[in-house]
Amino acid sequence: MSLSLIAKSIKPSPTLALNEKFAILKEKGDPVIHLGGGEPKTRVPMEAIMATVAHVNTGEVRYAPADGIPALKQAIIRYTEEFYDRKVTPQHIIASSGAKQALMVALQAVLNPQEEVVFPAPYWVSYPDMARLIGAIPVPALPEDGTFYPRLKDIEDRVGSYTKAVIINSPNNPTGAMYSEEFISDVVQFCEKKDIWLIMDDIYHRLIFDGRKPINALRYAKKQDENSKIIIVNGVSKQYAMTGFRIGWAVGNKKVIEAMSNIQGHQTSGPSVLLQKAAVGALNGIQSSVESLRVTLENNRNVMIGLLKSFEGVKVTKPDGTFYCFADFSVYNKSSNALSAFLIDKVQVLTVPGAEFGLEGYLRLSYCGTIKDIQDGIERMKWALDPNSPNELYIGDRKLVRDWS
Ligand code: PMP
Repeated sequence: MSLSLIAKSIKPSPTLALNEKFAILKEKGDPVIHLGGGEPKTRVPMEAIMATVAHVNTGEVRYAPADGIPALKQAIIRYTEEFYDRKVTPQHIIASSGAKQALMVALQAVLNPQEEVVFPAPYWVSYPDMARLIGAIPVPALPEDGTFYPRLKDIEDRVGSYTKAVIINSPNNPTGAMYSEEFISDVVQFCEKKDIWLIMDDIYHRLIFDGRKPINALRYAKKQDENSKIIIVNGVSKQYAMTGFRIGWAVGNKKVIEAMSNIQGHQTSGPSVLLQKAAVGALNGIQSSVESLRVTLENNRNVMIGLLKSFEGVKVTKPDGTFYCFADFSVYNKSSNALSAFLIDKVQVLTVPGAEFGLEGYLRLSYCGTIKDIQDGIERMKWALDPNSPNELYIGDRKLVRDWS
């Protein structure tokens, strides 16, 4: 079939494919455990639900402005003041259908075909394909020292005359690593010096542990307001457990926001007004749900790390935030795709192969589910992988028998 070159260059999202797999197995009644998920399971804030219902009840659900409704922009203005210490205006803001769309239209607004976008590896699965979607070239920067914490040099080394933008995601999906203030400050200054765009994907910035505080990249910027080439991306998906509502946003200079709004206007129009109302409810409502999610995740992280540490041969780096842990399982199998498939097949535990994030031999394990899922999931993985485990494992009243060595 004569599909376009771009269509042929794009892979399906591996994490969305995993969610589908989970739903199919669950539907069949299989005792599957999802350690590959990317969404918290806590309830959506009540204010978000009430705001949506109130709007539905008006019986008038119409088009929204392409760049977001005024009430959501006001809520984002307050958010930006609180977390970024910046007073912005509605023209500095675009609301999109998820942080994903905000990132996509940001890339479309600043990159030409064949230009390059640099980001640290391991990286969120969508960055490379987002770049390819516009004919641009993704350039991952794997830290040379083998850690999950890049240094400026790792970025500098990949930036050349074709580089138009850098994306920084901290805390990071998949590693949970939160980069230091020093690194963020270095990157901001470096991008300013090179006059390239810096896209901060801050979607997990409040889900951080051990007393850390969110980092504000704008604090280190010398170029202010309309000269600034920093675009901050955020959203309600993770911090308010509102993944299905599909609301994210970007804050940037007026020109780039206008360009992004024009693009979005032709792509999807503005996000659904119902879902924007929900985001207003969440952003303006009582904020205790964010802290309670954060505390739950920190506890879940501790449980997962404890269990993984007793897993012989597995190397783990303690995540500083998010709800992911990126562990080195290469002692069991050098191919993360093969290992992940083996775990689904033998013990019905879903994990995401490290290769999808640009680092082979690793698995991404999520701790956004229940403690029981974390415990049972890792127990099953241990049973499947450890050659010294007993020959049988019971999952409920199902008996699994090892037919592999
Ligand atoms: N950035 C990162 C790093 C993510 O992990 C995700 C979601 N998995 C997104 C952006 C997109 O989030 P949203 O649901 O707001 O589109």
